[in-house]
Amino acid sequence: MALALDTLRLTAEEAIDLVEQKEVSPAELHAAYRDAIAARDDELHTYLRSVEIAEGASIPIALKDVISTKGIETTAGSKILSGYVPVFDATVAARCKAAGLTLLGKTNTDEFAMGSSTENSAWGPSRNPWDPSRVPGGSGGGTAAAVSAGLAPWGLGSDTGGSIKQPSALCGNVGLRPTYGTVSRYGVVAFASSLDQIGPVAKTVRDVALLYSIIAGRDPQDSTTVELPERVRLPDSERLDGLRVGVPRQIASLGAIEPGVRTAFERALELASELGAEIGECDLPTSYRYGMPCYYLIAPAEASSNLARYDGVRYGPRTEAATYDEMVERTRDEGFGAEPKRRIMLGTYALSAGYYDAYYGQAQRVRTLLIREHREALSKFDVIATPTSPTVAFPIGDKAADPLAMYACDLLTIPSCLAGLPGLSIPCGLSDDLPVGLQLLGPQFGENALFRAGHALEKAIGFDTVPLRWRERSDPWGQTPGGEGSDPTGLTPEDTP
Ligand code: GLN
Repeated sequence: MALALDTLRLTAEEAIDLVEQKEVSPAELHAAYRDAIAARDDELHTYLRSVEIAEGASIPIALKDVISTKGIETTAGSKILSGYVPVFDATVAARCKAAGLTLLGKTNTDEFAMGSSTENSAWGPSRNPWDPSRVPGGSGGGTAAAVSAGLAPWGLGSDTGGSIKQPSALCGNVGLRPTYGTVSRYGVVAFASSLDQIGPVAKTVRDVALLYSIIAGRDPQDSTTVELPERVRLPDSERLDGLRVGVPRQIASLGAIEPGVRTAFERALELASELGAEIGECDLPTSYRYGMPCYYLIAPAEASSNLARYDGVRYGPRTEAATYDEMVERTRDEGFGAEPKRRIMLGTYALSAGYYDAYYGQAQRVRTLLIREHREALSKFDVIATPTSPTVAFPIGDKAADPLAMYACDLLTIPSCLAGLPGLSIPCGLSDDLPVGLQLLGPQFGENALFRAGHALEKAIGFDTVPLRWRERSDPWGQTPGGEGSDPTGLTPEDTP
C-alpha cells in the first residue's frame, strides 16, 4: 500500500510510532524520505552524499559530514578530505545504529565546521527551505535545512560556537548543544577540542530529547566524556510554574538584534510568564563584550593544532612534489579553502612564542570570567533566555566577503559554549516570514530543565515548522495550513474535516 507520508510534518516520534504499530514499514518510511530528497534536494543541496539502504532499514537519520561513518566518505566539507573513507564509525554514529537508526546521508557543512552559513563548504552552499535565496545558517546548515524540508526526520550536528543552535533557528527547527562532555567526540573531525560538541536537530523538543538520550553518556573511547548524572526525561508538562527565567540585561542594548527578532523574543517571554514562569533580569556583561574576540582566539588556536594532521600523508588527496616539505605545502594550499587557512594563520600566530600570553593566555582568562558570570546568573535562575541569532536568515552572498560580519552571527550563542553549558534553540515565531529562534541556556547537565521549558513553550507558541511556501502542497487531505487537528502522517483522512 502506498501511503501519503508527509515527511514535511512527520516527527521522528510519530515515525517510530507508525513503524511500531506496523502501519508503515521501515522501507516505506525510507522511500518517503528518498522521494522527498529526489524532489527537493537539487534546489537545496542539503546532502553531500545519500546512502543506499540495502536490507534492514529502520528509522532514518541524517548525519553532518564531520561525523565518521564506516565505509562512507566523510569530508567535513573540505577538499582536503575528499575520498576519505573512514574504517570505523564515530561513537555517535555507532550509537544511532545500535538504537535502530539508519543513515539517510551525510549533510553539508562549512569546511571543518568553520562558518555560519554553509557558504564555506568546498562543495557549495546549502539553501534555506523557507527562502532558497537565503542561507540556512551554519556550519550545520545541511542538517537543519534537511530537517526543515522534510528530507530527514532528525539529524546530528556539531556545535563549537553555535553550529547547531544558529542553523536550527534560521530554519525553524529545534536544536540542542549539550553540556560539554556529555556526548562522545570519538570519530568526529575535530575543530576546537575544548568547545566541540555533538547534538541533535529535529522538529520538536521531544524528538531532540529522545535523540540526545540515544547519543549521550560516557564513552571509554573519549576521556572527556562523563556519565549523565540523571537520566533524560521526555518532557510532557505544558506548564512552567516555578521556573525562574533570567534575561541578560545586556540584550536590551545590543544593536545587532533585528527589531523583528526582538519582538518574537519578547512575545515568547510573555508566553513563558503566562505559563507560570517567573521572568527576571540577570547580568552577563563580559559575555557579549568579550565573548566573540575570546572565541576567535581560542577556536582558531585549537584549530591550527587540530588541522596540522592534514598533510597529504595520512588522509585524503596528495599533491605530488619534489620534496616532502613542498608536497605538504602544496597539498595544504590546494586542499584547504580560505576560511580554514585564515584560522590556521590566526591560531598559529596567537600561539606563537612572544604572543601566547598576550592573546591565547588572555583569552583563557576571559573564558574563566565567562564561566563565573554564567555560574552566578544560573545560581539565581533555572534557565537564561535570549534570541538564538541576532538576525533571521540572510541572503546568500551577503556576508561571504566579510569574515567579521559572519563571525558576528554567533554573538549570542558563543558565550555559553565557552562556558561549557547546554543550550536549546526552539522556533518562537516569524519575522519577515522567516523563522526566529529562542535560545534557552541552562547549568551544566541542565538538559532536562531545558527540555521541560522548551516543550511547554513550544506547545504554547504553536510554531508551524513547515516552510510557508510548502504549506498548501504539504497537505494531502486539504486541511487548512498548519490548522488545528492537521494530521502529520496523512494516514487518517476520515478523521479530518
Ligand atoms: N560560526 C562559528 C565559527 O565559525 C561557529 C561554528 C561552529 O559552531 N562549528 O566558528
